[in-house]
Amino acid sequence: MSVSEILFVVAGALLGLAIQGGMFLFLIPFAVVAFSLAVLNRPSLPTGTTVIPVIKSSKRTTAITPVVSPDIRNEFTNDVKMDTNEPNSSLRVNQIWSRANSDVDKAFGDMLRCLKLLMPDANTFMIFMSGGSANELRLRTFQSDIPNCIDTGAKISENMGVMSQLLRPGVSRILEGDVLVSKRLPYYIENRKIRSLVGVPLLDRDDRRFGAILVDSLHPNAFKEVDVQALTFMAHVMYMVSFKSYVSAQNYIEQQQFSVLYRYQRKFFQTMTVKDIYKQMFEYVKENMPFDRLTILALDKPKECAGRVVYCVGVDSEQFVDKRFTLSDKGIFVLALMRNRPVFRSFTSGYADYVPRLNDSEKRNMELRQLFVMPVASEPDAKTAELAICLESRYTNRYQDHEKKLLKAFAGVAGFAYARALQVEKDKDLATRDGLTGLMNHRSLQEALRTEKVRADRKKYNIGVLMMDIDHFKRVNDTYGHPVGDEVIKGIATAISGEIRKEIDVVARYGGEEFVVALVDTTPEGMIETAERIRKAVGKLEFNVHLTDPLRVTVSIGAFLVEPEFSDMKKAVNNADQALYKAKDGGRNQVVRFETVETEAVGAV
Ligand code: GH3
Ligand code: MG
Ligand code: MG
Repeated sequence: MSVSEILFVVAGALLGLAIQGGMFLFLIPFAVVAFSLAVLNRPSLPTGTTVIPVIKSSKRTTAITPVVSPDIRNEFTNDVKMDTNEPNSSLRVNQIWSRANSDVDKAFGDMLRCLKLLMPDANTFMIFMSGGSANELRLRTFQSDIPNCIDTGAKISENMGVMSQLLRPGVSRILEGDVLVSKRLPYYIENRKIRSLVGVPLLDRDDRRFGAILVDSLHPNAFKEVDVQALTFMAHVMYMVSFKSYVSAQNYIEQQQFSVLYRYQRKFFQTMTVKDIYKQMFEYVKENMPFDRLTILALDKPKECAGRVVYCVGVDSEQFVDKRFTLSDKGIFVLALMRNRPVFRSFTSGYADYVPRLNDSEKRNMELRQLFVMPVASEPDAKTAELAICLESRYTNRYQDHEKKLLKAFAGVAGFAYARALQVEKDKDLATRDGLTGLMNHRSLQEALRTEKVRADRKKYNIGVLMMDIDHFKRVNDTYGHPVGDEVIKGIATAISGEIRKEIDVVARYGGEEFVVALVDTTPEGMIETAERIRKAVGKLEFNVHLTDPLRVTVSIGAFLVEPEFSDMKKAVNNADQALYKAKDGGRNQVVRFETVETEAVGAV
């Protein structure tokens, strides 16, 4: 026999004595204490798991009083299932709630059996609980002498005779005897000649009604005042049992959710690129949050105050996928990101109430009734966040304190990981890019050339290598000073970049005032044309130097075409360099192709 079973017996015995009345009445409080201990000693849910109360605030505890009855819980979890996504699939939230429910049912069953010992004349014992709407109670569990006589779907609603009194505020009991009440008891399938009835409401600690206990008897005047008292005590214990079970279940779920979060935290810190951070954020939210549409925004061009939708799934998501936005757009998602503040909104009425998500031109969806936007910033106190997680739901009560808390914790982790990924990318950039011009540096050029060569060999195309050097650059430095020289180098870098295909061709600062360009998939004519274009573009540049005429410079360019059979990229660069020497020799400001070194310059002024 377990401790709780012993306590149940003691409680039963004490109540049994107390019910004799008179001097034994003083035993009632002791009986209740024994009963409470017995109930609280029952193994809690889920079996074998210790409930960790750390993550629950006192506020939270109040929010989940059993007013949210098991039935409501079922409904809630059921409609989550119907969603576009199935949140918390790894946690099996529904399963946890159903275990909590069955735990409560078991406790209630024990209590009814105990009542049976106290009230031997009673026929049927029933517990009703709130079924969602305020003015309706549904049969939750019962204990009856006569098998198969109870309608398990029975309800207590308004206008249901004597029972409905228990729904009225202020009514703390019903006690009927010596009356034929059978007609008015819809829970019996067959008509029973019930003569007595006793019942009390189940109240939470704020005196809100969430259920009722009802006991009937075939005997007239079967119940007395003391039975009302016994039921009232029992009702109190029932409140505690259900409360404890649901708090346990809620805590268990929260604990699980936070452990998923910690798992993601580890994953995050193995993530190096910003793009992977977007992806992991998306995966986490998709897996762990309920939504009908999920949108993730990233301010990928912070200097231009512009960003794009990096992920969007769910209702009408097509219209947002890859959509660009700027910080001056008036959408609510953008505002949350721009102000680095979470936004939470529910919409009750129709079209006129619509709030643009990205901008005014989007398709308005009136189905989505609640939105919750959580910004993610690399620095928690930043004025503007870089990312935003935007959740939307068809239900106006989808996002509660718990979801907000969880997503906030996640946003903290994600922001930190994002800051780290940004730093990693920046460091990488510093190592591979030239500080003055922002072009690739010498070292990364070698790598880029190798990569491009592999690709070119696979697809069988040529790569045009151009080596260029500014003409008489020493004079520029000597006449105007190094800072002006630096400006010229920067200006030429920009001019070169403007003449080639972005993201396709490669351009690097090879040395002090030397540049290398690799033209991907080109022809001999194409290569020379581009080289000429660059040469002319540089020639047109004007640098305004204080108190003098605009300064103009020229470049000489050596070109070499790497055909598929030519494999040595180092040699290719050398060949282009040799052609460059020839261009210098030939009088500068000209393009010379390596094969034509022995002959003549291609284009000269
Ligand atoms: P040429 O037409 O033969 O190329 O004549 P040049 O004077 O340009 O000769 P060279 O290419 O050898 O010139 C290299 C000069 O470029 C030497 C150095 O003072 C200058 N230089 C190299 N790197 C930098 C830099 O980062 N900033 C500045 N301001 N000058 C640089
Ligand atoms: Mg030089
Ligand atoms: Mg030079």
